[in-house]
Amino acid sequence: MKLWYPYSQMARQQHRYPVTKANGVNLYLEDGKKVIDGVSSWWATIHGYNHPALNETLVKQADQFSHVMLGGLDHQPAHQLAEKLVQITPEGLNHVFFSDSGSVGVEVALKMAIQYWVNHGNTQKSKFLSLRNAYHGDTFKAMEVGDDSDFQIPFGHVLHKGFFMKTPSGGFAATLDDVKQDLIRLEQLLQENHEELAAFIVEPLVQCAGGFKMYSPAYLTGARALCDKYSVLLIYDEVATGFGRTGKLFAADHAQAIPDIIVLGKALTAGYLGHAATLTTTKIFNSFLGTGYNKAFMHGPTFMGNPLACAVALKSIEIIEQENYLDKIANIEAALKQQLPEIKHDGIQDIRVLGAIGVIEVSDSKLLEGFTEFAVQQGVWLRPFGKYLYTMPPYIISQQELERIIQVMDSWFRQV
Ligand SMILES: *Cc1c(COP(=O)(O)O)cnc(C)c1O
Repeated sequence: MKLWYPYSQMARQQHRYPVTKANGVNLYLEDGKKVIDGVSSWWATIHGYNHPALNETLVKQADQFSHVMLGGLDHQPAHQLAEKLVQITPEGLNHVFFSDSGSVGVEVALKMAIQYWVNHGNTQKSKFLSLRNAYHGDTFKAMEVGDDSDFQIPFGHVLHKGFFMKTPSGGFAATLDDVKQDLIRLEQLLQENHEELAAFIVEPLVQCAGGFKMYSPAYLTGARALCDKYSVLLIYDEVATGFGRTGKLFAADHAQAIPDIIVLGKALTAGYLGHAATLTTTKIFNSFLGTGYNKAFMHGPTFMGNPLACAVALKSIEIIEQENYLDKIANIEAALKQQLPEIKHDGIQDIRVLGAIGVIEVSDSKLLEGFTEFAVQQGVWLRPFGKYLYTMPPYIISQQELERIIQVMDSWFRQV
């Protein structure tokens, strides 16, 4: 086999589904089957596939220029997208650094956090605090702040882990007492380690790849205050939660707690091209100003600010704004909240919904073995991992199509 697949044991034959065409929420498979994509191709294709306005935007930009380096050269699509991102993200995130993937966007955030302190003459504050079950990408520093032990086993001896705190308890609607207990723990950690800590990095409200664990906006508000108190920067990795997934445009919008740095990716370019954006406050940005290169941020991915990626991202945001996507997402959330809990099985441990994320957690991952084949037979593309069967559909999905996804989940649990 010449092609090496992601997260795969290549010695094992695994059935894969070649796609020959895609349109709207539908994938067309080589064997003639049509399946509804219930996971938006790793949570990115929020407008579905083959979207006429996005296609047209790409062709128009390609006719002008597909790519120029951002070193020494400059172009409107990068400026326009930077301006738009500053406008739609929480107040105060005023400066945008582009890169080519979510993992690199996270690396950029972590480097900025460390160098912010170095630029203030402090080389002690060089470690990170993160949450248990966190996933921030597959590059080295992203792995260090992540907590997926299965994926990290071969690298355990080279990863320099920082500090971890347990995932906040109680879910999205946690009681004030739950939140208070977690914040007491957070304060202890910050109090003991703040002299070494550059930043606290979290996936705000939903830890997606780490098992869709959800927590309260009040935790973020409390964490913001504590990070200020102990001079630790706060980073939101919104690579998965950004662009409406949690029911608001950004998970940060649920809480009165603006981070120092935010990372966007995945749905940024609506699944058309790999790109990411790391946004910071003027406080951070200004710390990099000086006369020589010693304070500058010496980082520059070849494809940063790629004009095709910027153009398609801008068009995607325009569609989100003009076509009331937050209403569409609210409808998806309402349907998931109403229908998912009707699915019953002794092996189901928890069912949780936030925005356009619906999750069924089972007690034993064996219960989900064979699910993908079953779902494809029934016209739906879903790919559970571990103990989690989930849907994160494209926002353009119709009520009927969404019901089809839920029905397939339901019929699985009726026969397993
Ligand atoms: C997917 C993901 C990343 C990594 O993004 P890539 O584009 O795959 O490098 C980082 N953080 C979170 C929260 C993610 O979901």
